[in-house]
Amino acid sequence: MKTASPFSFPVSPALAAKLAKLGLKRDSDLILHLPLRWEDETRITPIGELLPGQTAQVQACVREAKVTYRPRRMLTLIVEDDSGVLGVRFLHFYPSHLKAFQAGARFRFNGEVRGGFLGLEMVHPRFAKADDDTPLPAGLTPVYPTTAGLGQASLRKLIERALAAPIDETLPPEWREELGLAELESSIRLLHQPPPGCAQHALESRAHPAWQRLAFDELLAQQLSLATSRQAREARTTLPLPHRRRLTAAFVDTLAFELTAAQARAWQEISTDLAAPHPMRRLLQGDVGSGKTVVAALACLQAVENGMQAAFMAPTEILAEQHYRKLAPTLAALGVRSGWVSGSQRRAEREAAWRAIAAGEADLAFGTHALFQEAGNFCRLGLVVVDEQHRFGVGQRLALMGKGTEPHQLMMSATPIPRTLAMSFFADLDVSAIDELPPGRTPIVTKLVSAARRDEVLARVRDACVGGGQAYWVCPLIEESEKLQLQTAEDTYGTLVEQLPGLRIGLVHGRLKAEDKQSVMAAFQSHEIDLLVATTVIEVGVDVPNAALMVIEHAERMGLAQLHQLRGRVGRGARESVCVLLYETPLSELARARLKVIFEHSDGFEIARQDLLLRGPGELLGQRQSGLPMLRFADLERDVALLERARDLAQRCLRERPEVAARHVERWLGSRQAYSGS
Ligand code: ADP
Ligand code: MG
Repeated sequence: MKTASPFSFPVSPALAAKLAKLGLKRDSDLILHLPLRWEDETRITPIGELLPGQTAQVQACVREAKVTYRPRRMLTLIVEDDSGVLGVRFLHFYPSHLKAFQAGARFRFNGEVRGGFLGLEMVHPRFAKADDDTPLPAGLTPVYPTTAGLGQASLRKLIERALAAPIDETLPPEWREELGLAELESSIRLLHQPPPGCAQHALESRAHPAWQRLAFDELLAQQLSLATSRQAREARTTLPLPHRRRLTAAFVDTLAFELTAAQARAWQEISTDLAAPHPMRRLLQGDVGSGKTVVAALACLQAVENGMQAAFMAPTEILAEQHYRKLAPTLAALGVRSGWVSGSQRRAEREAAWRAIAAGEADLAFGTHALFQEAGNFCRLGLVVVDEQHRFGVGQRLALMGKGTEPHQLMMSATPIPRTLAMSFFADLDVSAIDELPPGRTPIVTKLVSAARRDEVLARVRDACVGGGQAYWVCPLIEESEKLQLQTAEDTYGTLVEQLPGLRIGLVHGRLKAEDKQSVMAAFQSHEIDLLVATTVIEVGVDVPNAALMVIEHAERMGLAQLHQLRGRVGRGARESVCVLLYETPLSELARARLKVIFEHSDGFEIARQDLLLRGPGELLGQRQSGLPMLRFADLERDVALLERARDLAQRCLRERPEVAARHVERWLGSRQAYSGS
């Protein structure tokens, strides 16, 4: 039986599978599969005119081909044309190569020219058999992103077939002209098949109008898709939770401090959202230590005031438990009943917790993602708070839908989202920002210290603890193996116990049993422990204001967001705080750049911006990206002006020409994973 090909021409199942790996599932995907770069095979350069460093194509006869063994096994050719002689080397080759390169055979070689041992040479050039009358291509040759088992030539042919049909313009001409954009069809054709004389560097810089058009369209598709999903959410109804002030006001009275102006503003925005009859999707952003927890607690209380339940979720047990321990007693005094659910809880305990939640005997449930998995068991869930949301996956967010009315959602993150990302990938969410720290904090002093000076650092830790302070010692990160990570943590602990006699030292890591973790954290909190040796499990949220010194070993292995988060564990009280970043030499280029950024900046937004520059948006987006098509052609730093125009046009398009919007999204996202956020 012949299965229908989603392409307009026959494609074998094996080939279709390879294409699917590249996200190519229909003709129009092939059309939008644009080259990574181009090669200029339009000209032949005489060997005598080659210059080192240049990329060129020569046409030459093989004079000699042999396998040599020094310094390693390789295939070496001597080739020549009328103007000179060139060496060609292949470090990887098959017997068939040796056979093809017979003396006298004529080939075209295309590659970078280098000054070699015995004159000019090319290493691993592309090559093809050629005669004097083999025609030269008229335009640049595209090189596409591809996957194993799918060669450039085959992919090129498939794309050519897809390009045989006309390409519809998706934008109305008057909008296109208004925006000064090139036509879609000619832009796409130009990028796939640059005409003779088209300058390669202009194409590669991506400043070419053809690229700009494609980048714009891609951004527009993203904006349309996010705006549509936002509209759909705004059209859904849920139970409004008006602000009744009974519990919230009483809670504010229990606080030992006043809310900062930024906290009050964020709280006001959230409170207004909750009172509306549509599900809230708000992201509360605030740098580490800016005081997001109290704002979230207020939101929970507004839900409880309305007879609804709230779930307060954190990505680690330590953090979830800390929220529970800190908030539950205060809330109990107000008559609010809290429950606690975690994955490592004893079964009986956990079942009891769920029974209370399902029976509505708990108003507020604290927990880890274990809460997500059984969210349907709430009896009247009104609000979900997701702390450190960047640590959670998109799929887990969806599991929250549960039963009954759709809950409001408040997501919190201390990983600041640069403006361009907020405008693009997060455009479906509302964002509140806490942009000031509570008063009375002393800035954290960051020190970069070579591991060779570890003794001085030990002395400093001893002095701080003897003087009544507390400190963290963060163990090196071993990404490859959890077992090694544990080993390292235990070794570090053992060494520090030996080197710092007289100090009370504790150890906490991810593999510890929940009760043990909890008792170590409680002991640190109540200052029965002076020095807490920890893995990066303490990275998020842990709050012990008396701890004003932190040492991070092998800081060069950590990412910027992680370093910033870790450093945020100190500087929470009135004590002068210090964060010592120990590093091992030699430093890689990237590690050096990162340490420089963390040393020079304390503002999370600036650090995130620098991170974006160093790494690109992929990792910064964390889990969120798994549900969102990434941008292939647009670059958020470079194309920020396009992004703004795409955002404005998306609004107008949905308002005035919804059919244009639908067609545009179909073209760009039709066969890709649909947006699956809110
Ligand atoms: P984060 O935003 O990193 O989650 P937290 O909510 O853990 O920050 O707050 C950090 C510390 O600041 C906590 O000890 C908290 O009690 C305290 N805090 C929060 N708001 C204020 C405020 N307005 N004034 C003084 N201290 C505050
Ligand atoms: Mg927090």
